Amino acid sequence: MTAFDVVVLGAGPAGAAAARAAAVAGARVCLIERAVLPRYKTCGGGLVGISRDLLRHAGLDLAHLVRARVDRLTMTLDGRARVTRRRRDGQPVLEMAMRPELDAALVDAAKAAGAEVRAATTVTGLRDAGRGGVAVSVRGEPEVLAGVVVGADGTSGRAGGYVGVRPDLVDVGLEGEFQVPPAVAAQWERRMLLDWGPVPGSYGWVFPKGDVLTVGVIGAREHGAALRTYYERFVARLGLADLPRLHDSGHLTRVRADDSPLRRGRVLVAGDAAGLLDPWTREGISFALRSGRLAGEAAAAAAGGDPTALDSYPDRVEAVFGPEIAAGRVLLALYSRRPELMHAMMSAGPGAFGLFTRIVDGRSTIGRQLDRPGVRATVAALSR
Ligand SMILES: Cc1cc2nc3c(=O)[nH]c(=O)nc-3n(C[C@H](O)[C@H](O)[C@H](O)COP(=O)(O)OP(=O)(O)OC[C@H]3O[C@@H](n4cnc5c(N)ncnc54)[C@H](O)[C@@H]3O)c2cc1C
Repeated sequence: MTAFDVVVLGAGPAGAAAARAAAVAGARVCLIERAVLPRYKTCGGGLVGISRDLLRHAGLDLAHLVRARVDRLTMTLDGRARVTRRRRDGQPVLEMAMRPELDAALVDAAKAAGAEVRAATTVTGLRDAGRGGVAVSVRGEPEVLAGVVVGADGTSGRAGGYVGVRPDLVDVGLEGEFQVPPAVAAQWERRMLLDWGPVPGSYGWVFPKGDVLTVGVIGAREHGAALRTYYERFVARLGLADLPRLHDSGHLTRVRADDSPLRRGRVLVAGDAAGLLDPWTREGISFALRSGRLAGEAAAAAAGGDPTALDSYPDRVEAVFGPEIAAGRVLLALYSRRPELMHAMMSAGPGAFGLFTRIVDGRSTIGRQLDRPGVRATVAALSR
């Protein structure tokens, strides 16, 4: 059995951020990933302001990683009532990255900080090894012993089940990456699309990345068949149905119930594995980067002898994400019932778009906006 202070499961943004943070703090770290790296992940690759700040902080070269900067947003209501807004302060609404490239750069940053990376290695289970820590079972190889485990192995991994993570919202995202000719790429230059979907709580998007468009829809898993129909209609409406698809896949997202655990003994969970994700936008990269870093720091501190570090991790996560998730739930409930209202509000004028960009930039949050007395009263009235 090889032994590490911290073993991190999964080399997505949460795992790579955790491994880097723990290694920077001086821990001996092993990052275990099932896939061969770099690996594809079904994801729009849209980077909000908080994600961009954290990536820069981790030393990533965003100028190199970002495939497109978007300063225009087109919104439609199931294909109708098209409105386009443009940012005029020179800043992007979103920046777009390819997940294999982004995640590989994050893994490189973890390696540069001293983490050992074992790719193409599947974790099959976790076992409490008493005072020795946690034994991590790995397919076809000897167990790995960890002082602390950070489970960042996404929605299909092992850590969520071990810790007992309970989601109360489960969505399915369907997404394709379309190789487009130059004339189509030019139509989407600097512009993204959000379509408020016909399935309750769903929406669709087009995220441009030069000669590739990422096109997808997301909504509650219970509406799986209707979402599939929405996706195919959306793609056809955009005139993309006959273009080559580099990837065409589905992936689950889950939002944790408020009382869902974030730790079991010496195992912490972060990112999608913990159900940390905005319930309305389903933005998850910033949640993964932030919770991964908190988990990595807590794991390293515990391995270094701090007796309070593991206990305090759930409180720190609640403090950062609790209000954001609660606000996202309020908006999702309202949006699910009244998508036409969301469309009207979002396209109401420069003020509404300005508010949206402040939230996406990280200069404000949905929670802070919902706390404004006028907004609170309006939402309460509309929710009745
Ligand atoms: C369709 C769709 C579009 C999205 N678009 C966006 C977007 O534009 N912007 C945004 O911010 N968020 C978006 N999200 C959410 C975002 O993709 C996730 O929240 C984010 O990837 C979570 O990162 P993570 O590191 O927690 O998990 P992941 O990125 O899923 O990484 C988990 C890793 O664990 C590995 N793993 C799993 N099981 C094992 C095992 N047994 N052993 C070893 N390794 C294992 C996996 O191979 C994977 O590499 C989208 C989600 C979906 C479904």
